[in-house]
Amino acid sequence: MRKKQFKAESKKLLDMMINSIYTNKEIFLRELISNASDAIDKLYFKSLTDTSVGMNKDDFEIFISADKEARTLTISDNGIGMTADELESNLGTIAKSGSLNFKNENDAELTENEDAKEKDIEVIGQFGVGFYSSFMVAKKVEVVSKAFGEDVAHKWTSEGADGYTLEECEKENVGTVITLYMKDDTETEDYSRFLEQFTITELVKKYSDYIRYPIKMETTHSVPDSEKEGEYKEETAVEILNSMVPLWRKNKNEISTEEYNEFYKSRFTDYHDPLDVIHFKSEGTATFDSIIYIPSAAPFDFYSKEYEKGLALYTNGVMIMEKCADLVPDYFSFVKGIVDSADLNLNISRETLQQDHQVRIIAKAIDRKIKSELKKMLTNDREKYEKFFDVFGVQIKWGVYSNYGAEKDGLKDLMMFKSVKNNKYVTLKEYVENMPEGQEKIYYACGEAPEKIALLPQTEAVTAKGFDVLCFTDDVDEFAVQMLMEYDGKQFANICKDDLNLSSDEEKKALTEKNEAAKEMLDEMKGWLGDDVTAVKFSDQLGTHAVCLSSEGYVSLDMAKILSRMPGANDGVKAQLVLEINKDHKVAEKLFDLFANDKAQLEKYTKILYNEARLVSGLEVENPTEFADMIADLM
Ligand code: ADP
Ligand code: MG
Repeated sequence: MRKKQFKAESKKLLDMMINSIYTNKEIFLRELISNASDAIDKLYFKSLTDTSVGMNKDDFEIFISADKEARTLTISDNGIGMTADELESNLGTIAKSGSLNFKNENDAELTENEDAKEKDIEVIGQFGVGFYSSFMVAKKVEVVSKAFGEDVAHKWTSEGADGYTLEECEKENVGTVITLYMKDDTETEDYSRFLEQFTITELVKKYSDYIRYPIKMETTHSVPDSEKEGEYKEETAVEILNSMVPLWRKNKNEISTEEYNEFYKSRFTDYHDPLDVIHFKSEGTATFDSIIYIPSAAPFDFYSKEYEKGLALYTNGVMIMEKCADLVPDYFSFVKGIVDSADLNLNISRETLQQDHQVRIIAKAIDRKIKSELKKMLTNDREKYEKFFDVFGVQIKWGVYSNYGAEKDGLKDLMMFKSVKNNKYVTLKEYVENMPEGQEKIYYACGEAPEKIALLPQTEAVTAKGFDVLCFTDDVDEFAVQMLMEYDGKQFANICKDDLNLSSDEEKKALTEKNEAAKEMLDEMKGWLGDDVTAVKFSDQLGTHAVCLSSEGYVSLDMAKILSRMPGANDGVKAQLVLEINKDHKVAEKLFDLFANDKAQLEKYTKILYNEARLVSGLEVENPTEFADMIADLM
């Protein structure tokens, strides 16, 4: 029998498979099963119109068997089968639709250099490479097939890149039997495991659980022996390995909460029930089914570098990728779920570009859906939303910040902040709606916790006017609103930084006069503090408190604190601090007194006041010993 040569392209792909260093060699089973399922689909559809097929839907099946002695794994189907010509053109060539695209990308020596190898892995991992992937695990592959409507069957055999043979053979029923002669185990590769019942069962569950036809195998289990008390016996039976109907293909009203939760917990290994589930279908530019879960707690590795966002991507019930990162934006990186789209192809023989395009459309639809579901939750189930926000609110705020405003419209109404007035969450919308007459700006203050912010001198001044203050307790908060610039036409004002414009004209005049009159003293005080502050000023906005620090310019004190903590921070980013002294506080009189009579003592007072202000603003005292000594001296 003459050996035939593969077409050049196929040979390349085959080479790639045979020498594959891909760690997920197990996907070969998924590829063969999905081919079998496709073949059954074809015959099934034929049977709907052609009675000569003589098959009912329930007759179709895929059968797997393993022979450890012979080291063979067999996958059979009773699908449409292949004629001799089809065997040759389908398995001897990959010169189909999109393969050209693939070829161009990989024209550079396929496995010669590391870069190319990396690329190989990408190709195998993302799209699978169909039938040829069997050569990752088998040294010889035999395909016996009888096509529907043919009298004879054919056997296609190949031991790899040097070609294949084709001959007539016996086969009773229509369909295809693929036999893999497994490679010998090496130090690094254990091919024998693919002959184990356990591995096969696992792989079918993992990749092919939702194939529409039963995947059967003869399995052996030990079961309690009914005749001998306390003893076990081996029992062999044909078992269906897959569950066939994917949860996401079922109708929502057929699925109980328990079912959703159980699926979540087993599929995404979480002990907790999810907080929410979003199950939806999309038809139109992209057709897909999807189940997306919002976990009730951050995944255990969420804050580690190892965490990977993404949704599992299926096409027609066959898993293509466990975590497709492109399907979810970073600000929703916490969601878990599954997308199944018939628009995607399992095989690379589809243009890669088109794949990307589809994925992008799906991702957009998913993004929109999650946003609208969260909005619904915020309106209809406040308690649940607050729970969600406690855990993942920071992500939403990062989304507003890091997308340079692009996403802010979709996300800004999902943000909440604690209010100083009642220590409860408010949205920006609610804050603005509740603004009393005369309030122009959205006031916020940064701090560790709402309780601490409530104690700030500036807070007292603002709340005294009847205005509420938003508590910015996460690092990202102030950055996020800077990105927003305004909400509903209202600007944001940091009460520790911006001119709050709370005083009447008369009050303003009085303050200016006071500052002018004290200019000489204030300048001298500023001199003693050096570069630590840009000015020392009297203020009328400190309520009953003596001092505080405020900042001028773009960078607030809190932003400076955050920036200095960031890896690779330079000292360049500094807030320009102003030491503010309450003009009506008794300490003001004392300062004037000392300025006239005891400059040395005034210098000490200045330093003490400055350090007090640092403490009030949540900064460390630069020299605690000196500070303590100065206070002790005073006492
Ligand atoms: P794809 O499935 O994307 O077309 P494959 O490399 O997996 O690519 O398979 C190549 C072709 O071989 C299939 O399109 C199909 O025509 C044929 N084929 C593979 N396996 C079978 C099978 N079990 N029964 C019938 N035809 C098959
Ligand atoms: Mg295929």
